[in-house]
Amino acid sequence: MRIHHLSCGTMCPLGGGLWDGFSPPLGAATIVCHCLLLETEVGLVLVDTGFGLGDVTQPRRLSRFFRLANRIRLREADTALRQIEALGFTAAAVRHIVLTHLDFDHAGGIEDFPGATVHVFGVEHDAAQAQNGMLDRARYRPMQWGSQIGWQRYAPEGERWFGFSCVRELIGVPPEILIVPLAGHTLGHCGIAVRGPEGWLLHAGDAYFFRGEMDLRDYHCTPMLRLCQRLMAADNETRLANQARLRELKRAHGGEIRLFCAHDAKELEAFPRIAPDPIPAAAAPLSQHA
Ligand SMILES: [Zn+2]
Repeated sequence: MRIHHLSCGTMCPLGGGLWDGFSPPLGAATIVCHCLLLETEVGLVLVDTGFGLGDVTQPRRLSRFFRLANRIRLREADTALRQIEALGFTAAAVRHIVLTHLDFDHAGGIEDFPGATVHVFGVEHDAAQAQNGMLDRARYRPMQWGSQIGWQRYAPEGERWFGFSCVRELIGVPPEILIVPLAGHTLGHCGIAVRGPEGWLLHAGDAYFFRGEMDLRDYHCTPMLRLCQRLMAADNETRLANQARLRELKRAHGGEIRLFCAHDAKELEAFPRIAPDPIPAAAAPLSQHA
């Protein structure tokens, strides 16, 4: 399996380092949308989708509050679709999308891959459709995914994975890709574990937002991300408990599992980028769109 780390959109709220821990405090922060593109024997699998083409062309389908407060930078070149094409693939090559949750900054690219099956916890799908309350109406934007027909829903149970319950048998997806329940940020939030050539990765989604939260010797979080996580939590007690379990996972198995979250630019930077394979001149079909 080849693993690509992509950022499919950037949020640049004012307050710089008060958010991301490294930008000047009076400037803009860099909050990435860390997604994975997995080259597997069944085709491409995308883990989270960031912002999609529809967000770029119709930014108003996002909530006005988050658009303005997060200062979302929407660029076509940042979408998963355009980055996948730059690697020499078509949209049709993406067979599966596995989601940490359905928030607007993770689900925006779903509709760019109409042939993909979208794997998600049933409770997350239900909450996103129900849109109960003001926060859920702002975070879940059905315009991003309402036309998608290929949903595959799961219950958060199954075999054990390093002490966590997990769903091991994702239908049609290679067994090296697992959904690990990590509720709290949203009711059906989960992490995605991937066994790659260099061991396990755990994409923890929004179970934590800042690399310092997984620092076992010096736990810390920036004030804005601490506040943001608290305000966005659907179940804060469960969120904090799951975050503590992730620290314990790192303490006990940090040598075997590499953890990262969706929004930390420094964590993303630490992964090498894979250059695309040179496309042979005769491989014309690769440039066709689905
Ligand atoms: Zn997020």
